[in-house]
Amino acid sequence: MKYDYLIVGAGPYGAVFAHEAMKCNKRCLVIDKRDHIGGNIYTEQVEGINVHKYGAHIFHTNDREVWDYVNQFATFNRYTNSPIAKFKDEVYNLPFNMNTFYQLWGVSDPAEAEKKIESQRLQCEQPQNLEEQALSLVGRDIYEKLIKGYTEKQWGRSCKDLPAFIIKRLPVRFTWDNNYFNDQYQGIPVGGYTLIIEKLLEGSEVRLNTDYFAQREYFDSLANKIVYTGMLDEFYDYRFGPLEYRTLRFDSEVLDKPNFQGNAVVNYTDKETPFTRIIEHKHFEFGTQPKTVITREYSKEHENGDEPYYPVNDQKNNARYLNYKELAEREENVIFGGRLAEYKYYDMWQIFRNSLDRVRKELQQA
Ligand code: FAD
Repeated sequence: MKYDYLIVGAGPYGAVFAHEAMKCNKRCLVIDKRDHIGGNIYTEQVEGINVHKYGAHIFHTNDREVWDYVNQFATFNRYTNSPIAKFKDEVYNLPFNMNTFYQLWGVSDPAEAEKKIESQRLQCEQPQNLEEQALSLVGRDIYEKLIKGYTEKQWGRSCKDLPAFIIKRLPVRFTWDNNYFNDQYQGIPVGGYTLIIEKLLEGSEVRLNTDYFAQREYFDSLANKIVYTGMLDEFYDYRFGPLEYRTLRFDSEVLDKPNFQGNAVVNYTDKETPFTRIIEHKHFEFGTQPKTVITREYSKEHENGDEPYYPVNDQKNNARYLNYKELAEREENVIFGGRLAEYKYYDMWQIFRNSLDRVRKELQQA
């Protein structure tokens, strides 16, 4: 065999696996059907600005080892995610905190804000749908201005028709803190995420524009083992039916001005605005370029040819996934990993964690 590992997918899962295997002198061939490395964390320079091609990506983690690991390959800046919400002509800070409550009700005393929410909460033991769940957690004003329209656009359905489990908790803070994440470490890699992946893949052979399924037998014949990070249902030719996803359409524009919205992330929470967010990429790196690049995000049903983004982890799809998983567990020479092969939404740090754990186990056994 020419290679120890054929790695299908040059996203972060595949790249970490390749890097660790290479360090142990294993020969890796990494293929990706796209024309670039990096998977969904790929960034591309436009007008000197690192554009997050597949949606805004903010690295955040509490895992010290993962944080130290990624910092070997890039310098992270001090970016703190503090999104803004626009509801018609009103502007609010997120996540829900004292700034939001002041903007909503003019209250500056945390106890008063708590009382206000309490007075609006729906008393309901067993919420039957997402609307009841949200109303019981945060009350009517927050729900109607900041949750309802956004969630309905995201899922393409009324909150009354969405299951309650989609929202398990809605963090509410009674401090003046606009930091979206609670994690200890957070930032954006200076120069973009693609640089990290480039460094991880140094020394591996990489073939782009290469779909595993176009020459499956040929690729299988090249390596002792396969690390597969593509869609699990596709690997088994959709024999139990397709696993469903929600997807996004990105509409990017270069504007001939230095600053469009003054913040990297602005959510549009009213129902009338057709997109869910506008990302202004330069603000992730405090850019001072003369132009700016913005991307409007539209949420939609996944159709043939669309990129699969968010797994729809409802009962039907989870049951289908378990059927596929059973088959996957019987494979001796295929390692399945990453968001598509595990049909699960993972943040980047979890992908780094999972891939590191898996490759270490593999190399110990090898
Ligand atoms: P991917 O990055 O998707 O890589 C898989 C690769 O496999 C792809 O390049 C694909 O082309 C390739 N592939 C698939 N099938 C084949 C085939 N048949 N042949 C060849 N190649 C194939 N995480 C955060 O931590 N912070 C964030 O702010 C954040 N924002 C996000 C925003 C959006 C809109 C989305 C969708 C995700 C976000 N994430 C975020 C999650 C992050 O994108 C993922 O954790 C990460 O990309 C998963 O890495 P992966 O290697 O599993 O998959």
